Parts: sequence; structure tokens; C-alpha cells
Amino acid sequence: MQELDSLTDEIVKPGEGWEKVIRPLQILRITDLEGQQGVDFLCYNADNPQERYHAPNTIKAAQSIHIAKGSVLYSDYANPLMTVVEDTTPGGHDTIAGCCSSWSNEMLYGVPNAPGCRENFLDALSKHGLDWTDIVPNINFFCSVPVHEDGSTEESVFVDGNSVAGDYIDLRAETNVLAVISNCPQVNNPCNSGNPTQIRVQVFSPHSID
Ligand SMILES: [Zn+2]
Repeated sequence: MQELDSLTDEIVKPGEGWEKVIRPLQILRITDLEGQQGVDFLCYNADNPQERYHAPNTIKAAQSIHIAKGSVLYSDYANPLMTVVEDTTPGGHDTIAGCCSSWSNEMLYGVPNAPGCRENFLDALSKHGLDWTDIVPNINFFCSVPVHEDGSTEESVFVDGNSVAGDYIDLRAETNVLAVISNCPQVNNPCNSGNPTQIRVQVFSPHSID
């Protein structure tokens, strides 16, 4: 990977959240430092957060339930929020399985009091005056959710991800974007391959990647 000057360069530990307003044409790079780490992601129009990432518009435009290089993350107003301009991960990224939470961990795994990505989203969004009602079905970067011909999924929905150490995805902001990340702490399904690990999050100016 080419070393570039970045405006932001942070390590996010598993179980932690991250949020930042990304300016138009700036690049958000998320690096899966150790591989097979699920990274839950939401984005909003920072100037009007009522407009936010919309999985159906994104899926319909891409004609795929997987996000990959060239995918555009569309809003509920069908405006482009971000574009995937680089992606080293084979197999694409999940758009359908959503995030973990204390509630879903109890429902699915019988594990009480185990907060996860929804709680991280709530914490990050609260810094921008947003709340529970602003969380929509999110993207799971570096996550694999196979869907079979009959519509069924795997027993754990998630299977081990395809990413290896150092894989990254670059997202170009197409407007002022509030980007929100939860570095997933899940250990009850294979989204983190049973071993949640840290990620690197960078923001580059428009001209530092060519
Ligand atoms: Zn999670």
C-alpha cells in the first residue's frame, strides 16, 4: 500500500465506534489490519442528516446485494453519498444482515447484556443530535453473508469473511457526509471469525490519492 499523508489516521479497537464529517471528494479508507474483521457502517448527508444511506437504492443501482469497487452508496433521496473507489477485498461487502446489539445478542444467542454495534452507533450519532430513530440497516464491511438460490442463508447468517490482513476499502465522499463506524465486538457468529481485531481509519484529502 502506498503511504500517503492523511488528514486523519486512527486505530479503532474492536468494540469501539468512530465518527467524522467527511468533506466532498475526501477519501475515507478503512483497513482491516488483521483480516476477517466486521466493520459496521452508516453514512448521512451531514448538512441534512434526515437524508441517509439507503440499502434498497444502493442494491438496486448496483444490481447486487454486495458492495464492491464502483458501488455507489445512495441515500433515501436517491442521491450519491459515497462511492467505492478502491477495494482490495474479494467477494464484496454485506448489505443485508445489519448490526448486532444487546437485544439481538439475547434473541439469537441467549447472551444477555452484550452490547454491540447498535450501541456504538447510538453513541456516535448522539454527538450529532441523532438518536435511535436515525439508525437504518447498515453496511457490514469485510463481512460475508451468502444467500442461496432458494433464499436461505447459512445457519449463522454470517460466515468467515474473505478479507486478509491489510485489505482496505476507499470511499469517496460525494457531499458532506457524516460517516459512522462500529468496529464489531461480536464473538457469537463468524462475522469476526471469532476474534475481533483492530482496524485503521484514515481520511485523505482529494489530491493525495491518484
Ligand atoms: Zn456488530
